[in-house]
Amino acid sequence: MPPSILTINGATHSFEAGQTILDVALGSGITVPTLCNYKDTTPTGACRVCVVEVEGARTLLPACATQAAPGMVVQTESPRVVEARKMVIELLLASGNHNCLVCEANGECELQSLAYRYQVTTPDFANPPDTPYYYEDDNHMLVRDFSKCVMCGRCVRACNEWQVNQAIAIGYRGAHNKIVARGDFPYVNSDCVFCGECLQACPVGAILDKHAIGQGRPWERRLVRTTCPYCGVGCQVDVHVKDGRMVKVTGADAIPNLGKLCAKGRFGWHFVDHPDRLKTPLIKENGAFREAGWDEALDLVASRLKDIRDKEGPEKIGGWCSARVTNEENYLMQKLMRAVIGTNHVDHCARL
Ligand code: SF4
Ligand code: SF4
Ligand code: SF4
Repeated sequence: MPPSILTINGATHSFEAGQTILDVALGSGITVPTLCNYKDTTPTGACRVCVVEVEGARTLLPACATQAAPGMVVQTESPRVVEARKMVIELLLASGNHNCLVCEANGECELQSLAYRYQVTTPDFANPPDTPYYYEDDNHMLVRDFSKCVMCGRCVRACNEWQVNQAIAIGYRGAHNKIVARGDFPYVNSDCVFCGECLQACPVGAILDKHAIGQGRPWERRLVRTTCPYCGVGCQVDVHVKDGRMVKVTGADAIPNLGKLCAKGRFGWHFVDHPDRLKTPLIKENGAFREAGWDEALDLVASRLKDIRDKEGPEKIGGWCSARVTNEENYLMQKLMRAVIGTNHVDHCARL
C-alpha cells in the first residue's frame, strides 16, 4: 500500500498506518515538545505539552496520542498552540514546588527547558492546598521528591513496560494523585528491585540518584562511555565524571541495553574508589598477606599449578571462570585447563 500524506506546518509528509502525528513530525525533523512521551512505551497524552492544531478538529490534540490520517493539516507552533502550551507549562510549574536554583535537575530538567523555550517565568496559578509533598530517602540509592513531580507517568511506564517490574503505579485521585509502589509503601519495602529505570525516565528532579546529590551540575561533568563490568550482557553505560571522580552512572542508549540497566550496573560502582579495594596482588606468607607485583604473583601461581599437576595429577586442578569476563577470556580459560593443565574440570559461575 502506498504511504499516506499529511501536511505539517505547510509541508507535506508521508506516513505509514499506525504512526502518530508525533511520529511523523519527529521523523521529518520537526520538533514537537513532549514531557510524558517515553520511547517505545504506550502514549498516554497525559501532559498535554505536545498539543497541536489540526484543521477541522474542535480542540487541540495531543500529537503523541493522535493517529496520523490522510489529508490532515497540522500546525505545531501556531499562536493557539503556543498559548495552550504556555498555560500547560504554567500549570505544571504551579502544581509543585519548583526552585531551579537548588534543584539537582537544574540544567537537564525538561520542564525547565520548556519554561525557557516558551518564556514562562512565574506561574499565574496558585499552588495547590497544603497537602505535604511526598519525600522518601530511606534507601541507599534513590530519593523521591514529589514536590517536583509533574505526574507524567514516565517512571511507571519505564518500570512496567521497559523493565517489566510492575513495581509502581499511579495512585489516588485528583490533587492526591501520586506515584505509589504497591500498597503505597516506600520502595525499600515494596517489589522495587532498584534498577533505577524510573530515575532515568524522570524528566524533572522528582527522582534523584542519592549519591550524586550535591556532586556537581551536569555541565561540570564529563561523560565517559564504557561497558558495565558485572556480567556478560555487556550493557553500555555513561559514567559521569567530575574532577577525575565518578559521580553517577546512566544507561547509554546503545546496543545491547538501549538505556536500561540493573541495580548493579547503575548503582554498584562505589568499589572503584573504596579504601578497601585491592589494587595489587597479595601473597600469603606465614599466615599473613603481603603486597606483590603481578609478575611475582603469576609466577607463583604457575609454579604451584605445575607442582600439583606433576605430583598429584591434573585431575586435582579445576578451573572456575566468570560471567563477568568476555567469551574470548572464557574460551582461553578452558583452553588453559584442557591443553596446558590437562583436565576437563572446567566450570562457570553463570551455570549456577
Ligand atoms: S524539577 Fe525542573 S523546573 Fe522543577 S525546580 Fe527542578 S529544575 Fe526547576
Ligand atoms: S527502581 Fe526499577 S523496579 Fe524500582 S520502581 Fe524504579 S523502575 Fe521500578
Ligand atoms: S516521578 Fe518523575 S517520571 Fe514519575 S510521574 Fe513524577 S515527574 Fe513523571
